[in-house]
Amino acid sequence: MDSIDTRTLQALDAAHHLHPFNDNAALAKKGTRILTKGEGCYVWDAEGNKLLDAFAGLWCVNVGYGRKELGEVASRQMTQLAYYNSFFGCTTEPTVHLAAKLAELTPHDLNHAFFTNSGSEANDTILRLVRHFWAVQDQPHKNIFIGRHNGYHGSTVAGASLGGMKGMHKQGGLPIPDIHHIDPPFWFGDGGEMGEEEYGLHCAKRLEDKILELGPDRVAAFIGEPIMGAIGVYIPPRNYWKEIERICRKYDVLLVADEVICGFGRTGEWFASQYYDFRPDVMTLAKGITSGYIPLGAVMFNDRVADVLATKGGELAHGYTYSGHPVCAAVALENIRILQDERIVETCKADTGPYLAEKWKALGEHPLVGEARIAGMVGALELVPRKPAREFFPDRGRVGQLCRDVALRNGLILRATNDSMLLSPPLVITRAQVDELAEKAWKSLDMTAKELGMPTG
Ligand SMILES: *Cc1c(COP(=O)(O)O)cnc(C)c1O
Repeated sequence: MDSIDTRTLQALDAAHHLHPFNDNAALAKKGTRILTKGEGCYVWDAEGNKLLDAFAGLWCVNVGYGRKELGEVASRQMTQLAYYNSFFGCTTEPTVHLAAKLAELTPHDLNHAFFTNSGSEANDTILRLVRHFWAVQDQPHKNIFIGRHNGYHGSTVAGASLGGMKGMHKQGGLPIPDIHHIDPPFWFGDGGEMGEEEYGLHCAKRLEDKILELGPDRVAAFIGEPIMGAIGVYIPPRNYWKEIERICRKYDVLLVADEVICGFGRTGEWFASQYYDFRPDVMTLAKGITSGYIPLGAVMFNDRVADVLATKGGELAHGYTYSGHPVCAAVALENIRILQDERIVETCKADTGPYLAEKWKALGEHPLVGEARIAGMVGALELVPRKPAREFFPDRGRVGQLCRDVALRNGLILRATNDSMLLSPPLVITRAQVDELAEKAWKSLDMTAKELGMPTG
């Protein structure tokens, strides 16, 4: 594609395409970046720039770009049976195989899959079916969900309500009733003088306090991302989730783990509930389930919840035209086969993950970085005006944006949230590519510091 075509595309885009999570007027002036090709950990844009994608698209391209097998199974399934639904007592072969595969892969007794097209829809499904679960057991008032401020559970009405993003709540009259939020664990911003253990318990106690305030007979479920992604990769203390689990059990509150980012190997375990060693009753899946090659989400319910829904729930008045779409299911199965056969998750845990962690922590030595945090293959750099104080820039977000743009010019894609630089590369990243990533990140930090008139590394 030559640059004249690119400009035409950008003009058409500006005229006709409203972008999600963008200031569309500003974007129209600036011009959209158009991506044209992907291979492994790299993508190319229409200007011909080759970029190391350290964000795996949007936390999702776990097996990397350009895997022909995934296209081939999609093509085969489309040719054989492009679509059939799972309504009216029917389903398709790949859908059944995927449900069974997910039951086998996910921990403990998460044995029952409900399929959706996205993570947002999966969380909508959870809101409805969990409330239904309590209602059919004569507890219709046990309908409150507790989420966390700054959590992200998607962009639909229920998803955005369960999430705690203030900017999202402002648009469209959210949150809907009977959803409450507690503060998340964010040691850098909020940990004060507390050590990790103490801070973990302190944050978990917020849940107990909230349950007692609302009344345990009113609280249906607690939902959280094991590691909070969108807000800036908040990695909770080791003991946080165990304590959350204990509190949920004590008050018979269902525990929902939104593993849309963490699932399928991101932490070096298949699921972050294994990384933190806790047992969710319900799990949200999307993104890495197909490595982003095709849209798919799923909810995994444990035996207890599924049994009640099956035996007392009557007809489930819920479902999507594309619940369990055969093409999406076939791609998910092939994606899981690749992850398993190539031992990608194990390699992350034993080799590339620790190597990435070492290089990422070393970026923490840069004068612009107040904290470098990482768990498996997901991390963040907190950019700060001075060290060693845990302090933020006054106009939060400006420096992060600047650093992100500088990194792009250096051929590296990192996401910025506020002034955190977020890391979530394809899980197939090699040691050599980790070196390249670290080098480009350090150079970008230096150039950002220079533009700010701050000391460089
Ligand atoms: C991306 C995301 C979602 C929403 O998934 P969509 O497929 O965009 O609807 C939900 N939860 C978490 C933790 C996410 O990161």
